[in-house]
Amino acid sequence: MRVYGTGLLKGLKVTFKHFFDRKLTEQYPEERPKLYPRFRGRLYIEPEKCIVCSICVRTCPNGVLSLEEGRDETAKKKRLLSYEIDHQYCMFCNLCVENCPAQCLHFNHEFEWATFSRDQLKVVYQGPAPVEGKETPAPTAVQSQPQKAVTGMGEKEADSPGPDDKREKKKEALKTALAKNPAKVLGRYLENQEEAPILAAFLQNQPQRADKLVELMAEDEDKARKVAEALLKQAKKQGLGETGGESR
Ligand code: SF4
Ligand code: SF4
Repeated sequence: MRVYGTGLLKGLKVTFKHFFDRKLTEQYPEERPKLYPRFRGRLYIEPEKCIVCSICVRTCPNGVLSLEEGRDETAKKKRLLSYEIDHQYCMFCNLCVENCPAQCLHFNHEFEWATFSRDQLKVVYQGPAPVEGKETPAPTAVQSQPQKAVTGMGEKEADSPGPDDKREKKKEALKTALAKNPAKVLGRYLENQEEAPILAAFLQNQPQRADKLVELMAEDEDKARKVAEALLKQAKKQGLGETGGESR
């Protein structure tokens, strides 16, 4: 015998079953979504922390980043004039953030950035104002071009700095990175990266040796590796091996 209305009753049963459950639908935009701490929204830079090393520009696979740098002859160092982020090409891979030695690139939690034109997705940050009395009248502007996606391996930058300048910059970047995350930096020069904290602990009390190692890292990576291994051996002899192992 055919009973009418069973389908309706089944449907109502499901409805009532979920009627008193915890609500899962977010009433956006009235209700703001809960974002995870590591959510990648909009990329931004803290210009005052930037050391103008251009690592981020070279790291970005999509050519999202570009910067303009000037030279402050009085302070004898480069300074950031402007920094451009073209968000429309960013794929949120985080490579630039991970590789910035000064840790001045970050993602915030901003996700509502629909615009009427793509140009509005380009953000230009101005570099920090020069220290009073230290600015040279007209700093030389050098445009750091973003990396081309696949080609351009053999291309030379027209206004590339001299080898001495480059070495100095590399040294500075390495020093900053070493101070912030010694184990990560030293790990690149050791066969067993796990042992990097031992060497880091050893070098903490040996600033002169640390400086020498940084010099070698900037000038001759093979030599730096050999010296790093030798220093590690010394550190182990001093019994830092057990301390480093425990601390991990
Ligand atoms: S997150 Fe990736 S794609 Fe976006 S700017 Fe950084 S390196 Fe480029
Ligand atoms: S990697 Fe960091 S410090 Fe270097 S230019 Fe980019 S933002 Fe500045």
